[in-house]
Amino acid sequence: MTARVLIVDDIPTNVRLLEARLAAEYYEVLTASSGPQAIEICNRNDVDIVLLDVMMPDMDGFEVCRRLKASPRTNHIPVLMITALDQPSDKVRGLEVGADDFLTKPVDDMQLMARVKSLARLKTLTDELRARALTGQQIAIEDALRAMDNVDTGGGHVLVIDTDARHAERIKTYLVPEHSVDVLVQPADAVFQVTGAPYEVVLVAMALENFDPLRVCSQIRTLEHTRTLPIILIADETDRPKVVRALDLGINDFIMRPVERNELAARVRTQIRRQRYALELRQSVNNTMAMAVTDDLTGLYNRRYFERHLHVMLSKAQSQGRDMAVMILDIDHFKAVNDTYGHHVGDSVLKEFAQRLRRSVRGVDLACRFGGEEFVVLMPDTDMGQAEAVAERVRRAIAEQGFDVGGDRPMWVTVSAGVTLNESVSDTPAVLMKRADVALYRAKRQGRNQVVFDAA
Ligand code: GH3
Ligand code: MG
Ligand code: MG
Repeated sequence: MTARVLIVDDIPTNVRLLEARLAAEYYEVLTASSGPQAIEICNRNDVDIVLLDVMMPDMDGFEVCRRLKASPRTNHIPVLMITALDQPSDKVRGLEVGADDFLTKPVDDMQLMARVKSLARLKTLTDELRARALTGQQIAIEDALRAMDNVDTGGGHVLVIDTDARHAERIKTYLVPEHSVDVLVQPADAVFQVTGAPYEVVLVAMALENFDPLRVCSQIRTLEHTRTLPIILIADETDRPKVVRALDLGINDFIMRPVERNELAARVRTQIRRQRYALELRQSVNNTMAMAVTDDLTGLYNRRYFERHLHVMLSKAQSQGRDMAVMILDIDHFKAVNDTYGHHVGDSVLKEFAQRLRRSVRGVDLACRFGGEEFVVLMPDTDMGQAEAVAERVRRAIAEQGFDVGGDRPMWVTVSAGVTLNESVSDTPAVLMKRADVALYRAKRQGRNQVVFDAA
């Protein structure tokens, strides 16, 4: 995986050193020697990762990070901060300004590659989700960006897997009370434990007794609903080769023993923030998709959805030799409602109408707003008798109870319906709709407030 990395450091030697290492791994490298220059580059280019030195004159790394994270143009770019080795408090400050990860000086090669790789992976995922949100409605984009600002990292659900109960308990005390932490001392039960549980991060000790820690990781990665669950390994110096393999398995991060409290808290928070952010994005993408097929006013499916679904259902009914009915409904004299009471009242009648329609059809039936005051219901596996029963139930649900329009007396509304069934393999969606429409027209002509079947 390649990515465009921006190196920010005021000391040219440091820049060249990092540049050489990253270029050797085929990363594309940009460089900046000051904070303002870094911000400008991020605004102008598609930067995937920022490697940011904390110690710089004028504007230090914290301030640069704070500004990047405060701007909607740049706040999705992961920032990897390079702090002094003996300054755990730097990590806390870095987190406060929104840094995604940390490296300490002197920068260790393996750590550098591991972190850059993991951030590049994260960036690819969020870019993809952002792109989907962007092709959707403007609302979804705004939601997604707002979600990013609002993601908080407290109250996480953490699972610690370690056969050494005392060590696990110590890790737990580092994370409580900020998060709720469970300890699992039987790694064989890991899959069982995470299934259906609300965990947001799993910490796996490399030093498991009689159990391969990488197996735990790969099992979690294989389960459908824990595929994206962040995993942090707790490793010893001697585990290094295994950590590299674990990174390829998709673990998100690792921490070296002896575990330092602040660093652990920082890494756990980072993973929780990412996890929650990705979740928010996914939800906003789903909402966008829901919006594309739903009618705003009534919440019913819209015409676009109906047409696509009719096509699918008709082919299915034809290939399996099953019945299917289509009903078109049109509210009687609806223009008069608008003319007498105003468009606003007309709208609330449409809403109430849709609710009654939805309640009167069966679970298998698909009710949609076709447009204006016209609705359609698609009834799979339905013969003439059943279709008639549904249609009559809808008609009565509208006619037999007045509509509350805010005045002293209810308003009386009626609806006319035309129904047709699929008859032969030569029926197309257009032919069906035409027949139902002709039947509806007859219902109108014969006096409205009635259901008519097509003459077949
Ligand atoms: P008919 O019994 O023959 O169906 O008479 P009608 O008045 O219902 O039929 P017509 O098609 O002449 O008028 C439909 C009216 O529905 C016209 C339009 O103003 C109104 N309408 C369509 N969409 C909406 C809407 O979203 N909100 C409101 N309030 N009115 C709508
Ligand atoms: Mg009409
Ligand atoms: Mg009408």
